[in-house]
Amino acid sequence: MNLSNIKIVLVATSHPGNIGSSARAMKTMGLNNLSLVMPKLFPDKHATELASGADDLLNHAQICTSLEQSLTECQLVIGTSARPRDLALPGLTPKTCADMLKYLSSNTKVAIVFGRERTGLTNEELLHCHYHLIIPSNADYASLNLAQAVQIVAYELRMAIANQVSDTRAIPENLANYDELAHGYAHLWHILEHVDFLKPTNAAKVKQRIKRLFNRVLLTKQEIQMLRGILTQIDKKIVTDE
Ligand code: SAH
Repeated sequence: MNLSNIKIVLVATSHPGNIGSSARAMKTMGLNNLSLVMPKLFPDKHATELASGADDLLNHAQICTSLEQSLTECQLVIGTSARPRDLALPGLTPKTCADMLKYLSSNTKVAIVFGRERTGLTNEELLHCHYHLIIPSNADYASLNLAQAVQIVAYELRMAIANQVSDTRAIPENLANYDELAHGYAHLWHILEHVDFLKPTNAAKVKQRIKRLFNRVLLTKQEIQMLRGILTQIDKKIVTDE
């Protein structure tokens, strides 16, 4: 999935400031596709002020006279509201939404629809959606400010989608191979037997635990070399001291 194929749709926003703040929320997270359905006041200086440098999104915003028009090319539509409704749409949280979208092919067109400040989306509007996203919140005070709701959803999208590349990079490329690890372990067992840490009574269990510890770390070639360097030095010192 590509963030530029995700469109944020704001339906009948009353306060232009909220449009500006939503644009800012989007741009900070790398989203740039904004669609405004029947905005009450737009363009407006409050929108530009609160966009605070994200006014390029305002200038390129799609302005529509109906939600249907905004959704024409969208293949997957997610509606957001603070309250659960009796519509039996499958539910999502911002995180489960982002986790689902990251597996879509990169050219799928997605819309995430946000409602009016006071009354949200109508049931009829929500029925244009495949999924219903609710940001978990206080049951007695569940409504977030519109732009803050956009921010939370956009943040999760960024975490799941834009960081995908760096996530895979988090696993180093130069991991030690099985053979290098096996030699490293053999070296370590030799030293640990020599200093009586490994005894015939506990050896099997201790070896298993040490392997589990190293496996959690995902050692690189350089790291296993360094550990073996340490073992060699210990070995030399033991021999000279004996
Ligand atoms: N009473 C309205 C709240 C309007 S708040 C409602 O029930 O939805 C304005 C918009 O912000 C909402 O239409 C929705 O798009 C978004 N929003 C606010 N709080 C939210 C929440 N807890 N979960 C999902 N979206 C939320």
